[in-house]
Amino acid sequence: MLSYEQARKKVIEQVGKRKGPRAIASVSVWDALGLVLAQEVKTDREYPPFDRSTRDGYAVRSNEAVPGAQLKCAGEIKAGDTVRESLATGTCWQIMTGAAVPAGADAVVMIEHTTCEGHLVRFERAAQRGQNIVPRGSEAAAAQTILKPGQIQRAQRPRVAILSTGDEVVLIDETPGPFQIRNSNSVSLAAQVRITGGEPVVLGNAADRIEDLGEKIERGLKEDALVLSGGVSMGKYDLVESVLKAMGAEFFFDAVAIRPGKPAVFGVCQGKPVFGLPGNPVSTMVTFELFVAPAIDLLSGAEARALPLVEARLAEALNEKPGLTHFLPARMEWPERMPEVKALKWQGSGDIAALAKANCFLVVPGDRERIAAGESVSVLLRKDVV
Ligand code: AMP
Ligand code: MG
Repeated sequence: MLSYEQARKKVIEQVGKRKGPRAIASVSVWDALGLVLAQEVKTDREYPPFDRSTRDGYAVRSNEAVPGAQLKCAGEIKAGDTVRESLATGTCWQIMTGAAVPAGADAVVMIEHTTCEGHLVRFERAAQRGQNIVPRGSEAAAAQTILKPGQIQRAQRPRVAILSTGDEVVLIDETPGPFQIRNSNSVSLAAQVRITGGEPVVLGNAADRIEDLGEKIERGLKEDALVLSGGVSMGKYDLVESVLKAMGAEFFFDAVAIRPGKPAVFGVCQGKPVFGLPGNPVSTMVTFELFVAPAIDLLSGAEARALPLVEARLAEALNEKPGLTHFLPARMEWPERMPEVKALKWQGSGDIAALAKANCFLVVPGDRERIAAGESVSVLLRKDVV
C-alpha cells in the first residue's frame, strides 16, 4: 500500500505527464481569484510614488525640530493632496498618514510628540532625519517586475459589504494622479472574503466626509456584515469610528496590541457586525485574517476555524521592538521537511511590494525582542497563496 506521500507523488507524476498547454484567459482582476498568472506584471510607477508620511503629525526639517523648538505651522497636507510648495525655513506643515511630504522636509514628527499653541507647534524631542517617511521608489522601482508568471492569485455564503475610505483613493482601473493611491484594499478584501466563504459586495470608496461615509455605511449595513478599510487612526480625517458611533454602533474594541493593524475596530451597528480595518494594505490583510475571517465562518453557520498558524524554523535572526505582537511579511519555504521562514525587507504597513512577495506573516510575540536563527517561530499563513 502506498503512503499518502507516495500516492500524491503518483498523482502529480501522472497528471503532470498528460497535462496539455495551459489555457490563457483574459479576466478582470475581480475574478482572478483561483487562477494562475500567465504574464509578469510590472510596476507602472515608483512605489511609493512620492515621499510618503507614515504618521499623522508635522513635516519638518529635522535640524529645526529640536526639543523645545517652536515652528510656525504653514498649513496642512492630507492624503491625496497635490503638494507644490516646499517647506520654508522656520516652518512646519501638518501632515496626515499617507500624504506626500513637501520638498525641504526630511522628517515627520508624530502628533503625539508635539503641542499646538495657535499657529505655533512645539516639539518635545529631537527629530531624526528620515523618520516616519518612506522615500519615493523605496518599495519598488518603476517598471520593476512585481508579480511573476505562475504566481497563484487564489480562494450558504454570507454577504459581506466592503467599503474603502479615503480622499486619496481612486478606482483600480483609473490612472492615479501623482498623489493618489489605487484602491487595492477593495480587491484584496473581496478576495479574502471569497476565500473565507463569503460573498463580497463591493461598495467602492467613501470620501473622508461625514455625509458620504454615513450614506455608504448605511448601504453596507443592509448586508450580513460590513468591512471598512481606512479612516480608523489618529488623523484629523479619520472619521469612521465617529460616524459609526453616531449611527448607534456599539464597539467591542478599537485598538489591538499588534503591529501592523493596531487601530482595528470591531463593533455592532444596527444589528450587523462592522469591522474598521486600518487602510495600509498590510494592516488591512492581517486584521482581516485575525478578526473578520472567524466572523464569516460563524455567519456561514459554521464554527470559527482556528487561525492558520504553523511552526517554522527561523532562517535569519530577528530584532524587533518589544511590546506589540508583530506580523511581519515573510516567506516560508520547505527546503526539507521542516518549514523555514524569513522576514522580508519592508518599509512598514503600506509596503504593497513586500506584500506581493510574502506568502505568510511571521508572528513575533510582544515579549520577544531577539529571536536567533534556528529557533522555532509561529507563522500565519496567507490562505490565498499557501
Ligand atoms: P488610513 O488608515 O485611512 O490612515 O490609511 C492609511 C494609508 O493606507 C493611506 O494613506 C493609503 O496610503 C493607504 N490606503 C488607504 N486606503 C487604501 C485602499 N483602499 N487601497 C490601498 N491603500 C489604501
Ligand atoms: Mg484615510
